Amino acid sequence: MTHAAVVGAGTMGNGIAHVFALHGWQVTLVDVGQDVLGRALATIQKNLDRQVRKEKLTQEEAEAAVGRITPVMDLDAVRESGIVVEAASETPTLKFSLFERIDAAARPEAILATNTSSISITEIAAHTERPDKVIGMHFMNPVPVMQLVEVIRGHATSDATAQQVMKMAQSLGKTPVEVNDYPGFVSNRVLMPMINEAVYCVMEGVAAPEAVDTVMKLGMAHPMGPLALADLIGLDVCLAILEVLHRGLGDDKYRPCPLLRRMVAAGHIGRKSGRGFYDYAATA
Ligand code: NAD
Repeated sequence: MTHAAVVGAGTMGNGIAHVFALHGWQVTLVDVGQDVLGRALATIQKNLDRQVRKEKLTQEEAEAAVGRITPVMDLDAVRESGIVVEAASETPTLKFSLFERIDAAARPEAILATNTSSISITEIAAHTERPDKVIGMHFMNPVPVMQLVEVIRGHATSDATAQQVMKMAQSLGKTPVEVNDYPGFVSNRVLMPMINEAVYCVMEGVAAPEAVDTVMKLGMAHPMGPLALADLIGLDVCLAILEVLHRGLGDDKYRPCPLLRRMVAAGHIGRKSGRGFYDYAATA
């Protein structure tokens, strides 16, 4: 298997295409517009150039990697691939219909992976005729840098599919960790309640955002405080994932903090809006 397709060329999709191409795979990169695909290739080029400057790659390796990526707007092009990694927008109905279309277009033996952060792998798999070959490959942002791939087994994912994907993630230079399909998997199940509790600390006046973050950085050796991290992820994304945990696990310990809801309603959703727990106006 040497041909991969990546569906969705945004923040995550371009990073996933970058990593596959760098490890010798031919990559078909699919998105809905030429402009998005152009931006994705420019980002990949910029990130490869940075790796060359840091002497992690040679110029020839970087050029060869870009040369292996084919941008396309036609989803049927996934038929070339042994694995399809879907990294389109986090909208359940979009992912369900994409998987129906990918399933119809891909080879019968191809593995269909999704990079979803919060949608059930089992439910996505149920929209295909090959649920045994559907799996979560949850890469972390930025993909070329972060070591972890959370490999999520849906209810029907076969052992053979899980083993193949674990091996493949290792061959991409990543460290895969296998988990089962429950809301939030492990990463967001543990991270989001911590962020939510940090927001409660601010709402209840336990401490200011800077103080909460300093406690977690210096006291717990976290490289970044939970509120700065929430601003980076986007408070809207954090709220949506907390809703998934709350709904999916049915436990009030996952209830989103009212202050988080209020900040999202105000449009103060973190770095991307210039303001969240911190002010980014000067850096925007
Ligand atoms: P993004 O908005 O940057 O990119 C999504 C891309 O999907 C866009 O380029 C959009 O044009 C494309 N798209 C939409 N509909 C499509 C279709 N029908 N066919 C092909 N492409 C289509 O989003 P992102 O941050 O890259 O997130 C992608 C996925 O990765 C989501 O499922 C998200 O939950 C997950 N994820 C994101 C992060 C993160 O930090 N951003 C981390 C882990 C996982």
